[in-house]
Amino acid sequence: MLGPVRVYVGLGSNLSDPLYQLKQALGALRLIPRTTLLTQSRLYRSQPMGPAGQPDYLNAIVCLDTSLDAEALLDQLQAIELKQGRIRTGQRWGPRTLDLDLLLYGEYKIDTPRLQVPHPGLYVRNFVLYPLWDIAPDLVLPGQGTLAELIARCPNDGLEVIAE
Ligand code: ATP
Ligand code: CA
Ligand code: CA
Repeated sequence: MLGPVRVYVGLGSNLSDPLYQLKQALGALRLIPRTTLLTQSRLYRSQPMGPAGQPDYLNAIVCLDTSLDAEALLDQLQAIELKQGRIRTGQRWGPRTLDLDLLLYGEYKIDTPRLQVPHPGLYVRNFVLYPLWDIAPDLVLPGQGTLAELIARCPNDGLEVIAE
């Protein structure tokens, strides 16, 4: 049996009191079975991607160790999203109470209809890369370089730290 896998999950919210949503989600992530929350980034405010006219987002990243396989972990993440009132409207990147993206699952590459890991947005999104820097500054993304190199190429775009 292999040991636990180190994973990173990105959190985002821009509806129904995003600060409350992130705090609730951080509590829920701690309760996932066979999983330990190791570290969390600071909280950030970011400009929305996608449809204009939606509120700013709050974002964070957490690092977890898990003995769940990636699909089972995604089930847990989606259950937390649903519990916090996530409604899937079909609109890409539309506003949401909570978004939990599985960014990295160890060094595994997964490409199924349900799950792409590493998450394809990881390398270019400031609200992912900058919070990752808080908790994993030495991270190397296989085939994509170091986190430092990716950040150097990624404009900050008004991303702001709002809480430690
Ligand atoms: P993006 O993935 O570009 O950040 P999004 O988070 O708005 O967009 P969602 O509507 O939350 O996208 O998810 C759409 C589908 O993406 C989910 O139903 C899920 O099956 C799939 N998916 C694929 N890879 C991942 C991943 N690494 N983490 C979370 N969901 C994923
Ligand atoms: Ca997302
Ligand atoms: Ca998502």
